[in-house]
Amino acid sequence: MSSLTSLTLKAALDGLAAKSFSSEELTQAHVEAVAAAKPLNAFILETPEKALDMARAADARRAKGEAGPLEGAPLGIKDLFCTEGVRSTACSNILGNFVPTYESTVTSQLWRDGAVMLGKLNMDEFAMGSSNETSAFGPVVNPWRRNGGNAQLTPGGSSGGSASSVAADLCLGATATDTGGSIRQPAAFTGTVGIKPTYGRCSRWGVVAFASSLDQAGPIAKTVEDAAILLKSMSGHDPKDSTSLDIEVPDFASFVGKSVKGLRIGIPKEYRVDNMPVEIEKLWEQGIAWLKEAGCEIVEVSLPHTKYALPAYYIVAPAEASSNLARYDGVRYGLRVPGKDIVDLYEKTRAQGFGKEVRRRIMIGTYVLSAGYYDAYYVRAQKIRTLIKKDFEDVYAAGVDAILTPATPSAAFGIGEKGGADPVEMYLNDVFTVTVNMAGLPGIAVPAGFSSEGLPLGLQLIGRAFDEETLFSVAEVIEQAAGRVDLPQAWWA
Ligand code: GLN
Repeated sequence: MSSLTSLTLKAALDGLAAKSFSSEELTQAHVEAVAAAKPLNAFILETPEKALDMARAADARRAKGEAGPLEGAPLGIKDLFCTEGVRSTACSNILGNFVPTYESTVTSQLWRDGAVMLGKLNMDEFAMGSSNETSAFGPVVNPWRRNGGNAQLTPGGSSGGSASSVAADLCLGATATDTGGSIRQPAAFTGTVGIKPTYGRCSRWGVVAFASSLDQAGPIAKTVEDAAILLKSMSGHDPKDSTSLDIEVPDFASFVGKSVKGLRIGIPKEYRVDNMPVEIEKLWEQGIAWLKEAGCEIVEVSLPHTKYALPAYYIVAPAEASSNLARYDGVRYGLRVPGKDIVDLYEKTRAQGFGKEVRRRIMIGTYVLSAGYYDAYYVRAQKIRTLIKKDFEDVYAAGVDAILTPATPSAAFGIGEKGGADPVEMYLNDVFTVTVNMAGLPGIAVPAGFSSEGLPLGLQLIGRAFDEETLFSVAEVIEQAAGRVDLPQAWWA
């Protein structure tokens, strides 16, 4: 692909500022890359005319000296974000051809800052999944392949379209969301950087709800610095989301490259899970060595309730989902399947509109919230959640600045390889990431090396609440030590 698409967001913004090229040229190159990358199935809706209109408007603003921080940068938008006048489906049949009459706060802030929309990105249906295979639009393909192989691999999920499109240079960055790992796991599977900010950092308004107490938006980007630039624009208080916090948004990018000397990095022993592949263990050891070299103090820490996080997540998240998804009844918007009476219409619409995994979550959620089981499941899961949060608070109170763990228990796996017989096999992908959502903390996934089969692997850094700054500083040390990687040849174009 053209050299304009291989630029990082930062380099592209510098090039635009230096007038080395226009946003129209930059956007045209990306529009072509998107159109040529059909085999990846990353975009489910391309908006080339809109992109070029936005690019020309960006060029005009820049000419007048009114350039915003993202002026003219083409981005991809996960289909979970409502975009005004542009179909938004959460990759579910039940939303049909829903066209929102409003814009999500996060995307509106990106446009406010001058960004350009290339289109909507594929994802797991309602963001439920870890492989993008639950999408009503079919799976996304990972641009990476195993050494010498041509099996199609998943980019992870649920933000698989975001991760694949950034890794394949189809866009300069993408929006994503993370309820249990959906930013960090796909980033780790594709050699990209993904940050789930602290709960409350970004507004959830206009983002289709999955599990409202866990959902957060964040960017997937080519580099740590790019992620910092994007997160700044995405963050901030929004009176329309009562859980968004009214605190100052730091200039995250200014923390990239800052010395990490003297920082205390915790290594939680509970993350050494059974049957952890040797290469993941080695990657973690390598990360520890790099941070030591950079002057960090490494301390072993304990997060004793870690093993309960995944089971508790798979109670809390479906419970909230079953409630949030009650609104899709075939009456107000989206798909409607006629029935002999209103109840029949509801039942037929919901049976046809939701995919299998979403139906499973609704049933689990309804069960754990039902009168006879509420105390046994939901209330207990909430208590465990409090204990998980306290585990982290204790570690941070003891002076730890950030925690280093693997991002995923394996490298990317093949499409159709996991979860067919037992959904729990798929759920286990989230073992290192769900704790962070349960505690509401920020977590970043950064590429740190390769599997024996030549696939990217990521490490995760977990921070104190509202301390994304430290994560950006430490993640960049790992990024620099690991070295940036070039993609395998563009087999998809
Ligand atoms: N894989 C997890 C799930 O299926 C997390 C998804 C997410 O973060 N949106 O629930």
